[in-house]
Amino acid sequence: MLTIDDLAAPTPVYDDVAAKARRFEEALQNARSADEQLAVVHQWDAMRRELETWNALVNLRFNQDTRNEQFKKDREHCDELTPRLIDLEVRMKRLLLWSPFRTELEQALGAQAFALWEADVMAFDPKIEQHLVREAKLQAEYSELTAGAKIQFRGKDYNLSGIQKFREDPDRQTRHDAEIVRWQWFASNRQQLDRIFDDLVKLRDEMARELKFNDYIELGYKRMKRVDYNRNDVEQFRAEVREHLVPLAMELRKQQAARLAAEPLMFWDEPVHDTTGNPAPQGDHDWMVERAIEMFDQMGGELGEFFRLMVAGKLTDLKNRDGKSPGGFCTSFPSYGLPYIFANFNGTKGDVEVFTHEMGHAFQCYSSRNQPLVDYLWPTFESCEIHSMGLEFLTWPHMDKFFGNDAERFRRVHLAQALLFIPYGVAVDHFQHLVYARPNASPDERHAMWQEMERTYLPWRDYGDLPHVPSGGFWQFQRHIYLSPFYYIDYTLAQTCALQLWVRSNRDPQGTLKAYIDLCHRGGEAPFQQLAKGAGLISPFQSGCLRDVAAQAREALAAS
Ligand code: ZN
Repeated sequence: MLTIDDLAAPTPVYDDVAAKARRFEEALQNARSADEQLAVVHQWDAMRRELETWNALVNLRFNQDTRNEQFKKDREHCDELTPRLIDLEVRMKRLLLWSPFRTELEQALGAQAFALWEADVMAFDPKIEQHLVREAKLQAEYSELTAGAKIQFRGKDYNLSGIQKFREDPDRQTRHDAEIVRWQWFASNRQQLDRIFDDLVKLRDEMARELKFNDYIELGYKRMKRVDYNRNDVEQFRAEVREHLVPLAMELRKQQAARLAAEPLMFWDEPVHDTTGNPAPQGDHDWMVERAIEMFDQMGGELGEFFRLMVAGKLTDLKNRDGKSPGGFCTSFPSYGLPYIFANFNGTKGDVEVFTHEMGHAFQCYSSRNQPLVDYLWPTFESCEIHSMGLEFLTWPHMDKFFGNDAERFRRVHLAQALLFIPYGVAVDHFQHLVYARPNASPDERHAMWQEMERTYLPWRDYGDLPHVPSGGFWQFQRHIYLSPFYYIDYTLAQTCALQLWVRSNRDPQGTLKAYIDLCHRGGEAPFQQLAKGAGLISPFQSGCLRDVAAQAREALAAS
């Protein structure tokens, strides 16, 4: 059996890849039948899997040890090569879209690949290459600025993620004082943060016009590969959230304030759900892996077998250590059909959440490893997150293994946070629509737009005497707004689906698990709404998608 130590992929040389790609292009053009073209597609697909495996290995090694000079060099090489490889890919995709055998090809490969390729082709043209380079530079500028933040608090230095741990501190004064210094950093850097974003918005708008789109919103959707919904559908979903979830979120915040005896509830109270502090797992990394083996074995339906394969193949790296990048993610090595989970356990309930979340991604990726195209190994982002957020809920009955007597408390906090997240996520999305509809607005006007979003979606929010945020600066902390435009609604669409799985699994655990596993097997072979409907879920773009969820949640959270 293969372990991570056996996996390898040769470092590509651009000229060789380009020569190979040219041979594929010629073979496609000279093909006299659909079968001949299909044979080329499969060879091309094998090359893409190998390149992706190389990319994933290079990035993983760098994240595991950011101080290793060789790993850093390899990653830089990868960053430089990637845009040129995309150019080669888009050329092949264009040829396939215009193929005289397209009908037969669609029959063999599925229509979804063609829809995805069409989005890629529309979102890229060599004439925006310079724009893309400038965009990457501005994004790097934001990342470096925020990564380099040094914040002094009670005699110690923290970075922006380090200072965050005080957000859950049981002592109210500590939480407040830590928020003061955190937002003071943003206030001191406001001009630079405004300037970077202003440059990004104008640049993205220019790119859209170069490509003949009406505005960046249209291009942004294409770059996110959204093939079966548009901005009107998303607006319908936001209306649903305003109707069903904002009032529920208000009630939850009121209950929380009463539990904490903190009325009014201030911004620095929001992350803490009761006076005893948030529940934590009752053992360390090795202990948690043992409990996870028991849990997945009991859940059955392939999950146990899969998790044992992950452990035996050493396909997880979950312990926190110096030199490792922060955060958690799941990656995969398509030429081997194996996924990998990366995390940084720190002893909080977040460990269990990150772990079940990333396991959901990994299980889906493994389940779709035999899909005919690399394009189908993962679905688009809003669908990907159903697998991860869905598994967080499907593992609920087993949470006593990790939290003992605190399991019920964990479930309540997890559910409340899932619900409270949606109005925030929708606010981030709505804000970006306002921004890109008026690319020439001033930085002050953008801060006013964010304030309007807070009044609409987070009406309970009270920043008190904190710097920067009362005048509309909160959004500058949300990395996606700078780095991945229009990527955020995806989490809320998926959470809506995951909450529906929760409602169903309360009634029918076995049937719901089966529907979940079937969905994982489909990978990305269909667009979002088809995948959701196929799993018996109500599309978030349909009115009523949150009605049952809100009703059940209200009941579940009112019980004590
Ligand atoms: Zn995820």
